[in-house]
Amino acid sequence: MKDIPIAIPSVSDEEINAITETVKSGWITQGKRVAEFENLFSELHNVKYSLATTSCTTALHMALCAIGIQEGDEVIIPSFTWVSTANVIEYCNAKPVICDVDPNTFNIEISKIKEKITEKTKAIIVVHLFGLCVDFDELRQTIPSHIKVIEDAACAAGAMYKNSFAGSLGDIAAFSFHPRKTITTGEGGMITTNNKNYFDHIQTLRNHGASVSEEERHLGPKPYILPDFKVLGFNYRMTDLQGAFGSVQLKKLNSFISERSKYAQYYKKQFKEIDWIKCPDEPSIGRHAWQAYVLLIDKTKISMDTNDIMEYLKKEGISTRPGTHAIHKLDYYKNKYGLTNEEFPNSTYCSENSIAIPLHNKIKQSEIDYVVETFYKLNKHI
Ligand SMILES: *Cc1c(COP(=O)(O)O)cnc(C)c1O
Repeated sequence: MKDIPIAIPSVSDEEINAITETVKSGWITQGKRVAEFENLFSELHNVKYSLATTSCTTALHMALCAIGIQEGDEVIIPSFTWVSTANVIEYCNAKPVICDVDPNTFNIEISKIKEKITEKTKAIIVVHLFGLCVDFDELRQTIPSHIKVIEDAACAAGAMYKNSFAGSLGDIAAFSFHPRKTITTGEGGMITTNNKNYFDHIQTLRNHGASVSEEERHLGPKPYILPDFKVLGFNYRMTDLQGAFGSVQLKKLNSFISERSKYAQYYKKQFKEIDWIKCPDEPSIGRHAWQAYVLLIDKTKISMDTNDIMEYLKKEGISTRPGTHAIHKLDYYKNKYGLTNEEFPNSTYCSENSIAIPLHNKIKQSEIDYVVETFYKLNKHI
């Protein structure tokens, strides 16, 4: 019986050795290894500053704090995204203003942003969903310059828009290293920015609001003197165990993406004959990071329910998932803001008819072929 997972992390002895060495070093919370990971991340994404965090969610939370989002403010987000893109706005007692998406890219529908802007709009969080960057030239032409742009780059490590990396496009960005993403640290995240003020502020926020980092204090001349705490902070620090793990993963990022891209192109070519499958597009300039390979089912060409397609694949040993969910359909948001499916037709459609199929760096060509064959077998039945 086949059992092809949707995604599994690609980890080797190198990561294990890096963790073992760190454990033996005696310093396991945020320290040198995290700093090394941050430097590598900045270099690779061509940004001035990177700050490691416990997750993309906490990274986004601090990004909003750094920008100064507070009660009464509005932040625009796409509807088709992971729930934390919206949750972080609620943490700041601000209001998420939800915008529909473009089913061709799964990203925010830029032509619909203008009607969402009010005098309370302070920021927009754009999501580079599944590793495809938002069209930033078009975005910049649409929104006034006083509105801050945050990139939810959870899926977009190594992705490029034209010649610029994800994480360098907006005012501040947040990445994820959850095992479903291309590179992982178990849990973990990263903030990138070119803004020194944001960088300084987030360094303090991440470490309980302390005026001095733990490492500086312990290695300094007077480790017994506790720092002052001038702002309300959090403990959102990454451990050095994860930092060491992350540096090894990061060095593999380019080869991970190339391999995923090869399989993505193969899937697209193979699915050409099935008219009810819409494969994701690759940008002509730039780089898709292929965090996930997400098909959109064309309901005008197949009468079978999308959940039944996924059930069929499961019985054949192939794991699938919906691309992601629609924020406006989640009870908390639906009830709090009185949202309806009619307001967000594309996002509703995508949440009900998208299928992520297996794509990761441990997959074999024979498994990819099996996925393709199984779709053809299904196509013959209907
Ligand atoms: C995975 C994901 C997140 C959350 O990342 P965590 O590191 O698990 O907090 C946020 N936004 C998007 C678009 C994601 O895909």
